[in-house]
This record gives sequence, C-alpha cells and structure tokens, in this order.
Amino acid sequence: MVALCELESLRLAHDLIRAGLRLSIVRSLTKIGTRSLRQWWKDIHGVRPSNGKLPETVLSFIKDKDSAAMVSAFGAFHNRLHGTTLNPENLLATWQEFQRICGPLDINAAYFAVRDIRARIVMLSHCDVCHADFIYDAGSKHTDQCPFCATKVVA
Ligand SMILES: [Zn+2]
Repeated sequence: MVALCELESLRLAHDLIRAGLRLSIVRSLTKIGTRSLRQWWKDIHGVRPSNGKLPETVLSFIKDKDSAAMVSAFGAFHNRLHGTTLNPENLLATWQEFQRICGPLDINAAYFAVRDIRARIVMLSHCDVCHADFIYDAGSKHTDQCPFCATKVVA
C-alpha cells in the first residue's frame, strides 16, 4: 500500500507537471523517478517532455524591463510570504496566487527566481523611489535598475 506521504508527493508532482515545471526540477523537488515523470508529462501534455538544457539562472528569463518587473514581482512576493524557504508546496501555491493577481508567468522563471535569490546568485534590492523590491544584477541593462520605475508610463 502506498503511504500517505508518498501519495502526497505523487499528487504534487502531477500538479507541478501540469504547471509546466521542467522534469529535472520536479525530480529534484519530489524525488520521484524520471521514468514515471516522463510518462505523466506525456499523459498530461500530449507531447514528450523537453530534453533541452536547463537555464543557468533566473536572468535567462529576463529579456526586457517587462519580464524583469514580472519576475521581480514574483520573487518579492514569494520572499515576503516564505522568506528564503524553497519547497514545492509553497512554490506552487505562491505561483498560482501570483498568476491570479498579475497574469501568466512561466513557473520555471518563478522557480529560478526563488532559487537564485536564496543562493544569492542575484540580489533582491529595494527601490528608494517606488519602494518595490526587484531582482538586481549589474550584468544586464534590464536588471541594473528598478524595472517598475523603468516601465512606468510618464504622463
Ligand atoms: Zn522603482
């Protein structure tokens, strides 16, 4: 018989796959084997899962000021609710809640935002002008200043 905690992690893996989280991440978060995960992906999405390389950091998801603002908003939201704790239940619940408020966001970008803020690969910086928190990285023109101020429409 399947233990309750096992059942819970199966359900969680299904939800993460439905959300579109890359399988190697689902595997590391739920400890479920690749073969099962790949089959479920095919059952849920009707196509085979991607074998492509994972992005190295959250910065791969930031292509312009708008994506910088969106990913920063998620990173700050998750940080406020859960600090630097990264677990699949919180990630999924926070991502679903965030999308209800702010619109669609790739869950992989959400995962990397939390992971990289936690690992200090990027910094969550505070804007003195609009008081938002944003993902700061000096290496890109999209992340070297507050994206919310930068995307604000000037009347
Ligand atoms: Zn600002």
